[in-house]
Amino acid sequence: IFGVKKVGDGDLNYHIGVTSRDEIGRLAETFNEMTVKLKYTQEELKKKIEDMSALFELARKLNFTLDVYNIGNAILSAVQTQMAAKFAVFFFTKEDNEEVMAPLMSTDRNNTPTKTFAVNDRLMTCLGADIQLRTIDEIKETFKDEHDLKKLLEMDANVCAPLMVKNRIRGMIVVGPSETGAAYSNDRLDFLTAAINLCNMALDNIYLHNLAITDGLTGVYVRRYMLLRLDEELKRAKRYNDNLSVLMLDIDFFKKVNDTHGHQAGDDILREFAAMATRTIRGIDIFARYGGEEFIVIAPETSKEKGMLFAERIRELVEKKQFKSGNKTINITVSIGIASFPADAETDKELIEKADKALYKAKREGRNRVCI
Ligand code: GH3
Ligand code: MG
Ligand code: MG
Repeated sequence: IFGVKKVGDGDLNYHIGVTSRDEIGRLAETFNEMTVKLKYTQEELKKKIEDMSALFELARKLNFTLDVYNIGNAILSAVQTQMAAKFAVFFFTKEDNEEVMAPLMSTDRNNTPTKTFAVNDRLMTCLGADIQLRTIDEIKETFKDEHDLKKLLEMDANVCAPLMVKNRIRGMIVVGPSETGAAYSNDRLDFLTAAINLCNMALDNIYLHNLAITDGLTGVYVRRYMLLRLDEELKRAKRYNDNLSVLMLDIDFFKKVNDTHGHQAGDDILREFAAMATRTIRGIDIFARYGGEEFIVIAPETSKEKGMLFAERIRELVEKKQFKSGNKTINITVSIGIASFPADAETDKELIEKADKALYKAKREGRNRVCI
């Protein structure tokens, strides 16, 4: 009776020491078996709750980010903890080469692998086709002599899970062996599947967000996004008593370029123009396509004088550059109008209006020049 009360109070480790062969003994034996089972179920449930909290926490983190690095850090830490893995690595394709996935980060910072994997190789294609994780044993069976298998073995990989963007494989999470060395149980693999699904949704969100804020032809920001950022940057400038300049650029006689060389050549020039400007601006500047052949630079921490020097540099680069379309070489010039906070304007609307007026002045005074 004392034992039953102990177990009833929650002490599932209590063992009733009655060993008689009568009914009381059998009752005690059955009772002991029951407490062992209860303890096991309780531990399972505890683990499930931990998994759910970890997934909830991961979802919360992924919701608030549009940065692949943040996504990688969040999922790696969740996976390593919940799977008790020795390490986990996040592979992803780089923006300038979507064919090769490279390790972006690892839970073992001092030991990030250097291996890369081609997106189009057989193993990666298969991983992406069924969008399911695979254990190294499964991979060994299907891809006996594959080059990628060798690389995974050298890394001591135990499980691979595909990272997908819009149904195309763009990366993977490689999980090392468990800390105890035992194979991962099904519920650990289920956790990984759930975590990777959340991660893939977050990666899709980044993709859609980028699609929404970039111009299809030139790859620079669209007007709507630029206006949002201008509002933010202006608020920041006001708070910190800082300068901010807006440069409005318009390519001169662009209609003539189209008329003379064709619309395709016009498109090529717009692309090259945008690429060159992107290389010229600083990391904190925002470059956007405002309309057809009109662009805007938002230059934070930039006074009118600095803005003029900056604009003059762009103007000169454009004047000197030989733009290419097919085997044709085409020269263009650009006119630029500038307005600055606080010298010319207080609001974002006013800044754009004044920059537009200055641009109009540059056109009127003969083009290929910078006006304030
Ligand atoms: P100005 O020096 O006064 O700016 O002369 P402009 O010819 O550049 O100015 P206008 O505004 O009259 O013409 C702009 C031209 O830009 C007309 C349009 O065909 C061309 N354009 C706008 N968007 C695109 C585009 O996406 N691709 C191509 N190829 N041309 C475009
Ligand atoms: Mg023009
Ligand atoms: Mg124009």
